[in-house]
Amino acid sequence: MKTKEEILRLREEIIEVSLKLLEEGLIVRTWGNLSAKIDDNHYIITPSGIKYEDLTPEMLPVVAISDGSYEGEYKPSSEYMVHTAVYQSRSDAEFIIHTHQTYATCVGALGKKRLKASRKDKKIIFPIAEYALPGTKKLAGNIKTALAGNADTRSVIMSNHGVLCFGRTAEDALKEARSLEKASKNYISDICKTDIEYGAVEGFNSYIEDGEIKYVKPDTPERIKMIHKMIYSKRPDIKYIFHNKSEAVMTISRRVNHMRPLLDDFAQIIGYNLRIPTSDVVALTVKKNVNVVFGHNDGAYCLGVNEQEAKAAAIVLDKGCLAHIVAIRFGEGKFLSYFDCIKMNRNYRKNYSVLANSVN
Ligand SMILES: [Zn+2]
Repeated sequence: MKTKEEILRLREEIIEVSLKLLEEGLIVRTWGNLSAKIDDNHYIITPSGIKYEDLTPEMLPVVAISDGSYEGEYKPSSEYMVHTAVYQSRSDAEFIIHTHQTYATCVGALGKKRLKASRKDKKIIFPIAEYALPGTKKLAGNIKTALAGNADTRSVIMSNHGVLCFGRTAEDALKEARSLEKASKNYISDICKTDIEYGAVEGFNSYIEDGEIKYVKPDTPERIKMIHKMIYSKRPDIKYIFHNKSEAVMTISRRVNHMRPLLDDFAQIIGYNLRIPTSDVVALTVKKNVNVVFGHNDGAYCLGVNEQEAKAAAIVLDKGCLAHIVAIRFGEGKFLSYFDCIKMNRNYRKNYSVLANSVN
């Protein structure tokens, strides 16, 4: 049984670790969640939809492992069920980290059942749980199945979504998340025969101020200005355009003409069924519920109702493009079904529309 002081320390530790994950780039914005066990039947977890920077220890709700009921002013993360599944399956899980970390998430989109790696001459296996829609009982069941067959693991990759890493302490879980990311990055570098760095790279951005388009860089070429104008005219809801020219996005804009989502956050935030022009003369496709417009060999224009949202789309797009490239090199990718994409996209727009910045 933990004392009141120990539980308060755990509450503080969850916030400290989440800020560390943000700093290291394993978590972006509010995407992901953390939890810690406080007694045999309860754990505390990060609440839904609150920025990690704004979290205070008392905000973390308490969830019952036996039935998922919770206490507290704030609602638990909508993905508490996967945390419950881990606590129910493994007595050595006392601190859990769930992230959408780039490289491990990309590995989880290849249709593989496990990732094999080695650490100090010791072979390790990271199981990959089968896909199910986020926040569902089915997904929690798939996590349990993946854990049941791998008694030694302290990580599960969730297909097309992210990862769960755990340990006895916060430090153990953090080490596990870093080690999984390192093993995934090595695996991807082997497949691609090169390192592909991730992160949005700014090209020519613009925003709307007092009804007028303002360009962030004074040397924005006329040709690019025309594209921005066209996008704003077709999407009056958009107030910021982030022109992403990252390595992965540039590669896709040069070599691919159609993109289906491989990752949940892509389907939610960006949309599905993206067309990429095959030459400069083909008109760009601006669609109502798709927050990215590709240019030919010119990266992609990521759309948002403000700068934050446009940047979020740029980051999610970059990871989605990386996953796509890895799948092409690997020779196989497990694409999300059209039906699941529609469902997630609608749900996201309904629940987290406009200024909301949460996705789990
Ligand atoms: Zn998630």
